[in-house]
Amino acid sequence: RISPSTFSQITMQGQTTPTITSQKVAVIGAGVSGLVAARELHQEGHQVVVFEQNNKIGGTWAYEPNTDSDLLSLDPSRTIVHTSLYESLRTNLPREAMGFRAYPFIAKEEDKLRDPRRFPGHREVLHYLEDFVSEFGLSELIRFETEVVHIEFMEQRKCAVRSRTKDGNVDNEVFNAVVVCNGHHTVPNVAEVPGIDVWPGKQIHSHNYRVPNPFSEKVVVLVGGSYSAFDISREIAGVAKEVHVASRYITNANPTKQLGYDNLWLHSMIESAHEDGTLIFQDESSVVVDVILHCTGYKFDFPFLDRDVVTVDDNRVGLLYQHIFPPKLAPWLSFVGLTWKFATFPLYEVQSKWVAGILSGKISLPTQDEMILDVEAFYLKFEADGVPKRYTHNIWDYQFKYYDWLAAQCRILPIEEWRNQMYAATGMNMNVRPETYRDEWEDQNLILQAHDEFLQYYM
Ligand code: FAD
Repeated sequence: RISPSTFSQITMQGQTTPTITSQKVAVIGAGVSGLVAARELHQEGHQVVVFEQNNKIGGTWAYEPNTDSDLLSLDPSRTIVHTSLYESLRTNLPREAMGFRAYPFIAKEEDKLRDPRRFPGHREVLHYLEDFVSEFGLSELIRFETEVVHIEFMEQRKCAVRSRTKDGNVDNEVFNAVVVCNGHHTVPNVAEVPGIDVWPGKQIHSHNYRVPNPFSEKVVVLVGGSYSAFDISREIAGVAKEVHVASRYITNANPTKQLGYDNLWLHSMIESAHEDGTLIFQDESSVVVDVILHCTGYKFDFPFLDRDVVTVDDNRVGLLYQHIFPPKLAPWLSFVGLTWKFATFPLYEVQSKWVAGILSGKISLPTQDEMILDVEAFYLKFEADGVPKRYTHNIWDYQFKYYDWLAAQCRILPIEEWRNQMYAATGMNMNVRPETYRDEWEDQNLILQAHDEFLQYYM
């Protein structure tokens, strides 16, 4: 059994202080960030209500075979499915490094329904989250099938949360604080292709990709250069006539065939689309194409917040101090889970811990003006470095520094060295063994170190 006092074990000795104030807090969403926020807030002594529009926990990890009614997800009146997972998805991180620090993601080999692989399929991640909910008694905090439709910030720092159940019942309830954990892998970003209006083929976003069969014998172009394009292009190549990946990261003068495949080519970006079905690439090659599959990421979307609360400009959510607090509404409004390109679970865990500690008064924030100056300096650095706004919440370059800064605020130990090294080893393994990194690796020593540490969680 896992000890419920887990996080105190990574707390620096002698530095815990008692809870000062208990707040009534609304958490929006019961995905990874909402669940871990609920756990941290609850543990800190706050009174927590989690609003979840779905009838189950897990968010992204609650796989659905059905998709949005519009496969490109542009029609505002479409039926929306929250998750973007495809049937065959396996994690791109090893379970030791992926799981929460307070609740290791350990393989349960004795349970035959479980997937003990080191890089398990998505169902195993959902089982892990279900275990997390049951271990920390979170289910009683969650109101399922209840969508938050509006948040109003009132006098005396109170927030009125309007929610609507599936049956159409609308309720207004006042909270002291709101933590937004609504995820950012549901509203697709679609590549702009000159001439696309006259191009006769089909378009779909990877948000709506589930299985490869519909692409059988088709000529498919995938746009994108990240994990989804990598995995889905390989899966589709097993059934399609031809697969062409167009990415801004590929700058070759000519298309190149992907090693190990007869029908998978890598191109620079699409230059134009034409009435006869042809796509022309920047590398000057051209192909007659049946389907464009956009693996081009997602947009932040907060339909329940008024536009003057936070802005979303080219996927920059502003202003947010440390990607979490809008200075003018801190600490009554916070966002957990906006940052990307990191092992999300442990990071959202420490973000939640910080929010919980600030709401209880255990941890202090700088003044409003200091927070604004800090964010403005951050933006100026972005501009000086010529980085587009859309990368504002991509923390890849400073992820460990960011984690450790939050950890120091919360007075817990920095990220474990083995975890740090495991991310690096996994990245290198992906480059060396792109086809088999999930089943072959060389960081056995780090697995042993992780398991040594996990032992302390068992009584
Ligand atoms: P979500 O999981 O999106 O959860 C948000 C929740 O909020 C949902 O349950 C939703 O129903 C609810 N909600 C939204 N709006 C409202 C509202 N108005 N009212 C009430 N409820 C609402 N991460 C990894 O660590 N490893 C991986 O291998 C990995 N693979 C991934 C593969 C894909 C294809 C994708 C898309 C993501 C992957 N990720 C991976 C990142 C993944 O998104 C995070 O692990 C995590 O699921 C994000 O959790 P979240 O709670 O922030 O958001």
